[in-house]
Amino acid sequence: MAEPSLSTVKRLFALSANRCAYSKCGCPIVETTGTVTGIICHIKARSKGGPRFDPKQTEEERHAFDNLVLMCGRHSKLIDAEPKTYTVELLREMKAMHERHGNLELSQVEARYAGRLLDDYRDLYITTTGDVTVNRPQKVEFKQVKKTVKITAPEGSIAADRSKRNYVKHLIDRYNEFAAQQPGRKFSFAAIYSDITARFGAKWDLLGIEQFDSLCAYLQQRIDCTMRGGINRGQGYPNYSTYPEFVAKYERR
Ligand SMILES: [Zn+2]
Repeated sequence: MAEPSLSTVKRLFALSANRCAYSKCGCPIVETTGTVTGIICHIKARSKGGPRFDPKQTEEERHAFDNLVLMCGRHSKLIDAEPKTYTVELLREMKAMHERHGNLELSQVEARYAGRLLDDYRDLYITTTGDVTVNRPQKVEFKQVKKTVKITAPEGSIAADRSKRNYVKHLIDRYNEFAAQQPGRKFSFAAIYSDITARFGAKWDLLGIEQFDSLCAYLQQRIDCTMRGGINRGQGYPNYSTYPEFVAKYERR
């Protein structure tokens, strides 16, 4: 099966500066923890019947650097669902604008991320149809949660505030619910927790209450950047309650 070469994906990833190419999106392609959330997209579809398919392209051209662009889960779905809006010209323009800020150097770690992007690509596509088809049934692993000894929440932490703690849990659950539906990915319920720890420097419930707003903004952005989150937003459905809505719904009982 024809596919982009690893060196092409490395070049794409380097020039993406680890950001989705969609104008002003800013979602990462690979999270700080190494979780790959972005997708290799074809400007002219990889197969007949797909969005913007060009029968005159050779297989080589289809998988070449010029025909590929890196986008987040949400935007990869959007550009293929609305090919009349997202024309070849518009996507080429986004790619060119985006790649101007990139840099061709890749660290060893980044080069590995490019390899993972290609692995995900292989998981995502099967031959011939233009539709995105999952190659193999997605395995969702439920890890046994270890019983923990209950400790008193430190004063001033998110854990010490019942409403705030429950709201963060609500966002984490929503993220995992949406992320588990993403096709072709190795999904782990634990990933979001380590992402938070890597980003904020401590387990989410031990963070200070002053970090509540930025933690919520981060989780909301992660939810919005999932494929399902993007579809909901496109259709005008909210992905989560705001904190005041949540408090009104769940806490005043
Ligand atoms: Zn995006």
